[in-house]
Amino acid sequence: MTQPESDAPVLVIGAGTMGNGIAHAFAASGFEVRLVDLAEDFLTRGMGVIRRNLGRQVQKGVLDESAAEAALARIQPGTDLAAAADCGFAVEAIVEDESKKIGLYRELAPLLPESAVLASNTSSISITRLGAASGRADRFIGMHFMNPVPVMQLVEVIRGLDTSDATFDRTMALARDLGKTPCAVNDAPGFVANRVLIPMINEAAGALMEGVGTAEDIDRIMRLGMRHPMGPLALADLIGLDVVLDILRVLQDGYGDPRYRPCPLIVRLVDAGRLGRKTGRGFFDYGPS
Ligand code: NAD
Repeated sequence: MTQPESDAPVLVIGAGTMGNGIAHAFAASGFEVRLVDLAEDFLTRGMGVIRRNLGRQVQKGVLDESAAEAALARIQPGTDLAAAADCGFAVEAIVEDESKKIGLYRELAPLLPESAVLASNTSSISITRLGAASGRADRFIGMHFMNPVPVMQLVEVIRGLDTSDATFDRTMALARDLGKTPCAVNDAPGFVANRVLIPMINEAAGALMEGVGTAEDIDRIMRLGMRHPMGPLALADLIGLDVVLDILRVLQDGYGDPRYRPCPLIVRLVDAGRLGRKTGRGFFDYGPS
């Protein structure tokens, strides 16, 4: 295992919604990227999304055609984690399942150079716990990108209890290299973004369930009254009601406070398979999915 150069490639694991956005953001900022997923199908889909989103940036005049082509050429997709061998920084963006993440870290441990930082894009799992399980707690950190990654400015950077200052400084600098604004927070359930956002969505669902307002009016009130670009119910449909429910449960378990009790309407919608946009129906109808 050789030590990587400072301009070493970045490893992105998971080519789904977040992983392909993260690979896109790194490649567009000039980094060589190794994008790894479990099967070719996922990589083909992820690379297709990146191609389309780069094309959209060209249309909007954010990027010129040759820069978009160069960015795409910087991403090397593959199914073999051995691609980690010359990487200096790794971002894990696989499914939000603690045991799967830990299983991956164990596989990655002998492959990733000693000096490399491993960052997780988890929305809610404890960075301290993941870091301890990774066997490199000092070189482990949370790097919580927002969806859609190429567009959103914020990266929430979460220090675990044993994250070193060097790891933290490198991660903050890297987020800035991507043209993002990093915000440093400590490890706590939901971090800051989801601790504030998800209870608001839960309250909006409660107001709807109790008939205080229609879904349209609740969202309109928050858009027009609070200048939110999207109402909380439409936003929940975009995030996925299953994801919202998972995060509520993380908050409830983590704080043991009844105020995080999931609204029964969210539970019912998830039970019915109405997960929001991805299934064509959630708080609102989106037509056939
Ligand atoms: P997703 O389901 O769209 O993508 C996950 C990808 O990981 C899939 O392509 C899957 O095949 C792959 N994968 C699973 N196990 C793997 C393994 N062992 N090795 C390699 N690839 C593997 O999920 P997503 O929405 O992109 O979420 C990814 C992570 O980002 C989660 O931790 C999630 O909580 C977090 N996150 C999601 C959002 C969001 O809005 N979707 C926002 C912020 C953070």
